[in-house]
Amino acid sequence: MKYEVLTGGPLDVNCYVLTDEATGAAAVIDPGFFDDRLRRVAETGNVKMILLTHGHFDHMAGAEELRRATAAPILAMETERALLADAEANASRQFFGRDLSLEPDRGLSDGEALRLGETVLTVMAAPGHTAGGCCYLTKDAAFTGDTLMEYSVGRSDLPTGDQYALLRSVQKLAGLPGDPDICGGHGAVTKFSAEKERNPFLHYFIAER
Ligand SMILES: [Zn+2]
Repeated sequence: MKYEVLTGGPLDVNCYVLTDEATGAAAVIDPGFFDDRLRRVAETGNVKMILLTHGHFDHMAGAEELRRATAAPILAMETERALLADAEANASRQFFGRDLSLEPDRGLSDGEALRLGETVLTVMAAPGHTAGGCCYLTKDAAFTGDTLMEYSVGRSDLPTGDQYALLRSVQKLAGLPGDPDICGGHGAVTKFSAEKERNPFLHYFIAER
């Protein structure tokens, strides 16, 4: 599996385009915008699924257009459905200046394995930043949304946020095997080994063992 990072939208979200090299099948994680770059991705005809790490507007504002352009289903945690539908909860009303509401095609559950060609993505529930957030884990990369980002973690003061749940989710990530790329929702892509050293939240759980 290879991936490309496209950063854009009002809050510079990281949108990831994953490609299974064996089959060419692609998935788009967190299309917070829909621009020429994503239009070109759509035009390849390879996009099989649109995945959301959580429902905040800056991660999903381009999802509806991408779905229209690709006919690919939008997948998010079943527990994020209510937030996605509610402009106040998904923060579009407060920060986007326009009410957004999105209905995923299917709700995901914790531990579910998604197949993208020969690549397997494991869904890990990661409540805390929002109640229905999740991470998508592969052998070589963890797409962690706003749960874990470049030497930091996401905020927990927005609707459905919970700081204790967020820390428990970070603790779960602390147990990841190997040294995957950490592909967060904002900021630079880092390595798990670097996060373990420099991310104070992750460092705490590693040191605790
Ligand atoms: Zn967010």
